[in-house]
Amino acid sequence: MATTRTFSIIKPDATRRNLTGAVTAKLEEAGLRVVASKRIRMTKEQAEGFYAVHKERPFFNDLVSFMISGPVVVQVLEGEDAVAANRKIMGATNPAQADEGTIRKAFAESIEANSVHGSDSAENAEIEIAYFFKPEEIVG
Ligand code: UDP
Repeated sequence: MATTRTFSIIKPDATRRNLTGAVTAKLEEAGLRVVASKRIRMTKEQAEGFYAVHKERPFFNDLVSFMISGPVVVQVLEGEDAVAANRKIMGATNPAQADEGTIRKAFAESIEANSVHGSDSAENAEIEIAYFFKPEEIVG
């Protein structure tokens, strides 16, 4: 399995509770390395663009409001099969269905305020990384 990259967001519910380090520790324990990281406040336009795939879904407006309700930490993660490794440590979207030991089981407040985002494919990882980072901001 090759070393690959994925994109992660520590969401506003987690930054609000000062869980940036705790979430990152779980990522690192899962074998992922943070090769880029920045704390930002997303604009409404940025959040709408990022979640454009969900724009017809009933939860879209609430999701965008949530994502701009506080700072987020956007990260590029590197590791063996990084997309799958990150999805595994994140846990299910709905924390009620998330496995023990996952980030969402440990920290998520609800299906919306679920502490982390992680790319769902290598193709989307590339698009999402480019949405927030310049190549020179990523130091592997
Ligand atoms: N979401 C929500 N309500 C739902 C489903 C999803 O608020 O019923 C939010 C939640 O924050 C989730 C994000 O929309 O993380 C993107 O949904 P997706 O199905 O892509 O889940 P993920 O890939 O984040 O597990």
